[in-house]
Formats: sequence, C-alpha cells, structure tokens
Amino acid sequence: MSNIKVWIRKKIVDENEAVVNVMSPTSQFGLNVFEGIRGYWNTQTELLYIFKLEEHIDRLLESCKLLSIESPYTKEEIIAYIKDTVKANDFIGTDIALRVTIFGDGMGSWHSTENFDMFISPIKRKRTDVENIKGLTASISSWQRINDNALPPRAKAGANYINGRYGYLQAKKDGYDVPLFLSNDGDVSESSGACIFIVKNDILITPDVTSSILVSITRNFIIDFAKDNGIIVEERKIDRTELYLADEVFLAGTAAEIIPLISIDKFKIKNGEVGRLTKFFLTSYLDIVSGNNSKYKNYLTAVKVK
Ligand code: PMP
Repeated sequence: MSNIKVWIRKKIVDENEAVVNVMSPTSQFGLNVFEGIRGYWNTQTELLYIFKLEEHIDRLLESCKLLSIESPYTKEEIIAYIKDTVKANDFIGTDIALRVTIFGDGMGSWHSTENFDMFISPIKRKRTDVENIKGLTASISSWQRINDNALPPRAKAGANYINGRYGYLQAKKDGYDVPLFLSNDGDVSESSGACIFIVKNDILITPDVTSSILVSITRNFIIDFAKDNGIIVEERKIDRTELYLADEVFLAGTAAEIIPLISIDKFKIKNGEVGRLTKFFLTSYLDIVSGNNSKYKNYLTAVKVK
C-alpha cells in the first residue's frame, strides 16, 4: 500500500482515506479544475524546488472563474497547503509531481455552483533521463481539439481530458505514440497533454493562444527562455504541412517536460534524430527547474522537506 499523504478538505490523510461521494459532480460529470505541478530535488541544497507555483495557482483560479466555481481557498492558502502536503510526505531525494484539484463535492449536479472543495495529491516522479531520451511518433488526429465556444481548452478542467482521450487512444490504435490535434479552424493546436513547438530555419514557432490551446506554463517559459538566448520566436497559426517540413518538433508541458517528435504521419522530421535546439531546451529546462541556474531562481519555490 502506498504511504502517500493527501490533503483533502483541510486535512492531511492517507491516500486511501481521501475519498469523494460517488454522486458528486466530480465523480459523475468530471466537474473539477486542476493543476499538475512538479517539484525537483536539488542534491546540493537538499531542497525541493517547485516550478512556477504562483502561475499554476493563478491559472487554477482562472479555470474556476470560467466555470463559475468560487474557489473555497485563496491563492495564499492554496500555496501554503501545497507546502504542508509536500512536507507531510517523505520526499527526501526524490522529484515529485502533484495535482491540485478543486472539485464538485457532496451530492450535486453538473450545474452546481456550491459545495466545492480541494485536494492536493503528490506522487514521486522522476525527471526525464536526458542521456536515454528517445523521440515519439505522432499523427494528426481525426478528432478535433475542443474549442473556445464549446468546451474552452483555456480552462484546465477534468472534463476537457475526454477530448484528449479520444485522440490519444485512437493514435495508439493506429500505431503512433501521441496525437496532434487541429483546431476547428484547421490550425495545429496541441497534443493530448502537452503543447507543441516547431523549429524551422532556427526560428522557434508555436501556436498562438487563440489556436484552441491550454495556455501552457511550460510554453510560456520556453518562449521567454528562447528570447533570453537570442532565438527568434513566433506565436502564430501553424499549418499541418509545416509540421512535416519542420527541422525539429517537440512537445512541452509540466508532466511531459520536453519530448522530441521524430515523425508525424510517417513524415520523418529532418533525419529522425533529436534536434539541436530540442536538446538545448531540454537540458536547460531540467537545469533551471532543479535550481541549478541562478538566473531563473525566481521561478522556483523552495520547500525544505526534512
Ligand atoms: N496542453 C494540454 C492539453 C495539457 O494538458 C497540458 C498539461 N497541463 C499542457 C498543454 C501543458 O501545460 P503546462 O505547461 O502548463 O503543464
């Protein structure tokens, strides 16, 4: 049995005691908003660094607003509870991932506007092994990405992931690793749990925020970091054929970190190997998130877990 401690309704309990009513709106209709957040262990400082914690909570509260959910807790409270949860676990020497979820609790329906609470559930999760990184294959999904006038991808709602599920399982059945969705305008949007970047002639290109995407925190970081390094960045509509002809393509996200794509719809990306800039972003990202680059220390929240 896992000995993970979970925060729920202002209490820290064993994972198997963190339960919700089967009749709850989160259980019946996926009525919840959440954030996936990572923490990285630094062997020198012996601290766990949480990446972009404030941005995650800001986005969580924006997701609440879009769904007419009044958050039961303030930003400051949520941050404090996250730190308490991390400290309540035995995370010395390990990287972690944690989920913060505001959910429709108790008895209710999909239109309930009351009775929301929160859980914070951490797990141990290792960072990407850069030496052994291998790229993934992708296909353009025949499923469309949800859109702003139906089920806005800008809100990070649990129910949105059912769209990801359709695309992901279809891609797997068809023999690919991941799907790439087009928006209902036909532009490249994102993958099922990560955003997308391409590199063409040393320019970094990613779909703009009106391309039916979740406004990814990793995306925003990569854009800033690329600009800091003198790389030209374009946020714009992307055609599917631009993917096939790109020099490099990679996915990015909190869980995904940075994952190279080596083929799309069986079109090999360049020579089918992990590209130079992709490698640069991945190694730099892991350095920064684990607290080894002082220039970006202000993106990190240090937690003393001993
Ligand atoms: N798009 C989707 C659909 C996602 O689920 C995620 C993961 N949260 C991302 C993009 C990446 O977002 P972030 O960098 O904020 O984790």
